[in-house]
Amino acid sequence: MGSGNIRTTFASEGVEFLISGEEKVPLSSVNGKMICLFFSANWCRPCKNFSPQLVQLYSTLRTMGENLEIIFVSFDRDESGFSEHFKTMPWLAVPFNVNLHKRLSKLYNVHHIPSFLPLGSDVCQVEEDAVGFIEDYGADAFPFTKKRKEALKAMDEVKLQGGKLEELLAHGGRNYLVSGHGRKILVSELVGKTIGLYFGAHWCPPCQTFSAQLIETYNELHTTRDCFEIVFVSTDRDHDEFDLNMRKMPWVVIPYEDRTRQDLCRIFDIKEIPALVLLGWDGKTISTKGRAMISLYGADAFPFTESRIEEIETALRKEADGLPRQIKDQKHQHVLKLEMPKTFVCDSCKKRGSFWAFSCDICDYDLHPTCVQQEF
Ligand SMILES: [Zn+2]
Ligand SMILES: [Zn+2]
Repeated sequence: MGSGNIRTTFASEGVEFLISGEEKVPLSSVNGKMICLFFSANWCRPCKNFSPQLVQLYSTLRTMGENLEIIFVSFDRDESGFSEHFKTMPWLAVPFNVNLHKRLSKLYNVHHIPSFLPLGSDVCQVEEDAVGFIEDYGADAFPFTKKRKEALKAMDEVKLQGGKLEELLAHGGRNYLVSGHGRKILVSELVGKTIGLYFGAHWCPPCQTFSAQLIETYNELHTTRDCFEIVFVSTDRDHDEFDLNMRKMPWVVIPYEDRTRQDLCRIFDIKEIPALVLLGWDGKTISTKGRAMISLYGADAFPFTESRIEEIETALRKEADGLPRQIKDQKHQHVLKLEMPKTFVCDSCKKRGSFWAFSCDICDYDLHPTCVQQEF
């Protein structure tokens, strides 16, 4: 269905003109354009969340010179709801009419809002509206065809396998990342390093805890070798939270304005934060479970390969083989048992420890195996 058909449809539904801002424009003003219908309402929260994304897409595509026009079909209950919603939109609308949206939604098979329907020969068919597609890919989704969707999914798959860091981290002419102090670092400088993509947000308490662990690991690896870098992928709710967060970070971040943040979440299927995806020196994905590796083994886990983790675990088992199951220490009245707590603070040297400890079942008392003074 092209613009010719939509004009006929509108005319037969009694639509005599369209609205642009506060002005009436003739139906012929959409001649020769790619037309998309946007079904939405001011009272609908998902509509209000989606609408700004659509405004951004519209302005991006228009700036690129795409011949696209959106026509808003209001599901509002009254004229004032319509006006309030429409004033946020830079595109056209059909005049508000409480019955019209019912007829048009029936005609176009619209069962929910928001619904975004590109009209054209090769575009997604009417049963598949493009809202989810646009949420996932932004302006990259244009021209909203099945072919385009398949091409983008194939590109995601290639990026997931990895190998081309610049394709993964640079975007739309931006070939740099920024440091916590705002310094620009070229993505090309990271090629050849082991990279951790850290997904997190300021509002998330487990992220704060993990950030502290990650900073420790990062600093440790940075003083000994310069082949590891962390790239922070913010899921912060706004720019202020993002700023607060990045100021405390010693590594590089993806600029907040850039949709690479959303792209990376989609490509690596990030469902919860904090998350750490590890890429090897060749840019290929090593693991999406970097968080557990860092929490357990810290800098020892470098370069985070399966064989390195096996090495660590074998060494730990060996260490345990050389230790008694339980001991009696001179400093403590109860018997202490060999355990593997996640982390502990040694009650003798007061330093933090991980892995093997001699712990008391009765009280909160832990010792490094090396801090034991056995009582015979
Ligand atoms: Zn100790
Ligand atoms: Zn005790």
